[in-house]
Amino acid sequence: MEQVIIIGGGQAAASAARTLREQGFKGGITILSEERYYPYERPPLSKAVLQGVADANSTCLLSDEAARSQNIDVRLGQRAEAIERDTRMVKLSSGERLPYDRLLIATGSRARTLDGAFAGKSNVFYLRSLDDAASLRAAMGPGKRVLSIGAGWIGLEVAATARKMGMQATVVELADRLCGRSLPKDVGAVLAEVHRDHGTVVHLNTSIESVGGRDRIETVTLSNGETLSVDMVVVGVGAIANDALARDAGLETANGVVVDEFLRTSDPRIFAAGDVAALRLGDGRPVRMESWANAQDQAAAAARNMLGKDVPYAVNTWFWSDQYDLNIQMIGDVQPEGGTVLLRKGEGKAFTRFSVADGRLVGAICFGVPRDMAIVRRLMSKGYMVTDDALTTAPDLRKLL
Ligand SMILES: Cc1cc2nc3c(=O)[nH]c(=O)nc-3n(C[C@H](O)[C@H](O)[C@H](O)COP(=O)(O)OP(=O)(O)OC[C@H]3O[C@@H](n4cnc5c(N)ncnc54)[C@H](O)[C@@H]3O)c2cc1C
Repeated sequence: MEQVIIIGGGQAAASAARTLREQGFKGGITILSEERYYPYERPPLSKAVLQGVADANSTCLLSDEAARSQNIDVRLGQRAEAIERDTRMVKLSSGERLPYDRLLIATGSRARTLDGAFAGKSNVFYLRSLDDAASLRAAMGPGKRVLSIGAGWIGLEVAATARKMGMQATVVELADRLCGRSLPKDVGAVLAEVHRDHGTVVHLNTSIESVGGRDRIETVTLSNGETLSVDMVVVGVGAIANDALARDAGLETANGVVVDEFLRTSDPRIFAAGDVAALRLGDGRPVRMESWANAQDQAAAAARNMLGKDVPYAVNTWFWSDQYDLNIQMIGDVQPEGGTVLLRKGEGKAFTRFSVADGRLVGAICFGVPRDMAIVRRLMSKGYMVTDDALTTAPDLRKLL
């Protein structure tokens, strides 16, 4: 019987396993997860789960029952230690070796950590797993002071959740804007306003000079001379691909496991998907995406291709974030080189920002206007050409479909 092993037990793993069965695969499927939970989704960890309005169970993507009914062998607390390609075996932390015919690397990414003064302090938190969320939540509470280091999605979502819980929140960011890697500067500026409107203190162009405290961080002195007293520090300074296993097995890696358009690594029996995969399209530089939609769709595509379907992955760039009562969604190229931008004003600070390149709609950010995203998707898939100002002025965007 054909054996598929999936290393990693997160969202990509769950999506791949489910797709393999949906596609009629009758062989063995084993998911190896170093965590002690059945596969779950992470977005609620910085939002509803952290706030305590959703429980951990609500994040589950593949329950024990569902796995059993689909004959998927989920091995929890089992870390894959090595991929032995010559004998097609995966070596587990238990010492056991499992044979595979096809292998999916879905090991995700891990939080980048700060060392030096931040190492080993009991009130410094990272947010990647259910356990991380539980520890952070246990420390949070009304009136407490949280400092988010890094104004990326996680740092901002934690600050927003903290404010919802009646905490004091400060965000410190080295760069001159929020979410510098993914948001255009103008949108980052509005997002900073939203945070300030909600009482979060945002320091841009600011670094940390020193910290005070022994086992805990009690104070943080910033490059602007200000000293903050803190109850907890949440570090959100990016994620690192868990690609060591692949690299040690001699697979091509470049800040992630390099895969082709079929999600195949440099070994045709081994695929990769989700946060860990660095997708090379054409001759381009491998690109790694860290999003729910990417993990979901890449893994499903990888599963189909593991069964020999040979369908190129249709890149899904959709991303969302929730902060306070604001929903932000993005799709496509939101900063096209040489492109133009059209703004459709919504209520208050809300807007939809369309990106246009060579006359075509190539991307959009729906900032507080979630309903526009479904329409944008359809317009983009139709190859909508921008010939007038209808995108910004039409009373009802649906009329453009
Ligand atoms: C707090 C948080 C909030 C987020 N919010 C959003 C959002 O609002 N919108 C959005 O689009 N995206 C969001 N994301 C991103 C999204 O959750 C990730 O892109 C997605 O989880 C990636 O899925 P994955 O399966 O590739 O990796 P992961 O979900 O990281 O799963 C990988 C799993 O593999 C395990 N593993 C690693 N190495 C091994 C090994 N050697 N052996 C066994 N197991 C191993 C890991 O422990 C982990 O359980 C968020 C992420 C976080 C952390």
